[in-house]
Amino acid sequence: MATERFDAIVVGAGPAGSAAALTLARAGLSVVLFERGEYPGAKNVMGGVMYGRMLADLVPEFWTQAPIERVIVEERVWLATPTSAVSVGYRSAAHGPGHGLPNAFTVLRARFDRWFAAQAEAAGALLIPGTTVEDVLWDGDRVVGVRAGREGGDVYGDVVVIADGVNSFLVQKARLRDRPLEPSEAALAVKEVIALPPQVIEERFAVREGEGVTIEVYGSVTRGMAGYGFIYTNRESLSVGIGALISHLMRTKITPYDLLEGFKQHPFVARLIEGGEVQEYAAHAIPEGGYRAMPRLHGRGVLVAGDAAMMVNGLHREGSNLAMAAGRMAGEAIVQARARGDLDAAGPIYQQLLEASFVLQDLRKYRDLPDLVDRRPELLELYTRLANDVVGEMLTVDGLSKRAKQKKIWRHVREVRPLWQMAKDLYEGWKAIR
Ligand code: FAD
Repeated sequence: MATERFDAIVVGAGPAGSAAALTLARAGLSVVLFERGEYPGAKNVMGGVMYGRMLADLVPEFWTQAPIERVIVEERVWLATPTSAVSVGYRSAAHGPGHGLPNAFTVLRARFDRWFAAQAEAAGALLIPGTTVEDVLWDGDRVVGVRAGREGGDVYGDVVVIADGVNSFLVQKARLRDRPLEPSEAALAVKEVIALPPQVIEERFAVREGEGVTIEVYGSVTRGMAGYGFIYTNRESLSVGIGALISHLMRTKITPYDLLEGFKQHPFVARLIEGGEVQEYAAHAIPEGGYRAMPRLHGRGVLVAGDAAMMVNGLHREGSNLAMAAGRMAGEAIVQARARGDLDAAGPIYQQLLEASFVLQDLRKYRDLPDLVDRRPELLELYTRLANDVVGEMLTVDGLSKRAKQKKIWRHVREVRPLWQMAKDLYEGWKAIR
């Protein structure tokens, strides 16, 4: 291995790294894919919703062979207080199994990552699991390889793709970022996989075999911190978790474990998981700093993709798809640069591809949101409470006339949040997502 040389070295066999390795290997380049886990996915945690389009760009008709848990037919959002919830959702028969390309589907990463990395291997990439890359190797100002944590671990390559996930220390080693993440730039999420018979899941969530539901819960469950809880249906289990910004967890001193226990005891959550057996417990960080907290995306001989590059759109629960798309574009950029005979062009081509895609366009659109979320976490709980008060009052049939109810509601709303302050909140919110 010490004397071996590759056209490209990829670090991390998550969605970003395997997408890059697959693209490079398919183009006929020699690629090595390092993964620190005993196998890809062994250490990976995710709520579990993936998106079809970005995977189909890499593996057409993947749904006929990938380890999909359930195809999502309904997405629900609950704005919850301790005893009530305003619920909004969208259900579509066109998204169900048997309709070709699924919009979204659930996965268990231990199975999915293994399968996805195997696609890269089948295309010719050399997967080396159980090996942590500890450093990058330099020749002047150019990255020329990596130092893997094993005997004779120096491996050389024309380009290194860093895809080692959140809080990437390799991004710092490659001089693309000069500091670790701030506590306000990442959330900590905890998740349990709770086993239930498929028929029980299908009854409780009103779906058929192979169909799935996502529920995201905002409001009192995060106890004044920015974050949300989630329940996603798998074939024979539910993924149940909750996360909050690390800066808020530090301030409130609430532990993620306590947060999850509280979430599971919420009356509406408790009845969905009732009788289930906890099979797995895991905790993992999520990059939440957005566009303004991104590292440089390339240097000489090095590109960075996925969580390592802060490519998460928290508002839309998208991360795996940005990682996959960026990994593919990193691969394509290297292939195009080689075709031009100018490897230094890989970085600028990668940047251009990202700029022209939803990846950077979406992250740039929401660039002011992370700051608002960090500064004003109380707003979400306040408006959640207000929404419940308003809808609850409107739906309570108690002999009061509707006009009298409207007056009562307006009085209450103005007491809780004066209109001028509400207008200010709305403007601030609109500015952050316009
Ligand atoms: P990762 O998936 O983290 O993969 C990085 C890989 O690199 C890992 O396999 C790791 O073992 C390996 N690695 C790390 N360091 C080294 C090293 N030094 N040497 C070798 N290998 C190394 N996204 C969604 O789209 N939908 C969701 O529902 C969703 N829910 C989430 C819920 C939770 C609780 C969490 C934590 C995240 C969630 N995300 C979700 C985000 C999503 O998981 C990430 O955006 C996505 O996994 C990023 O992919 P990646 O390949 O960049 O990084």
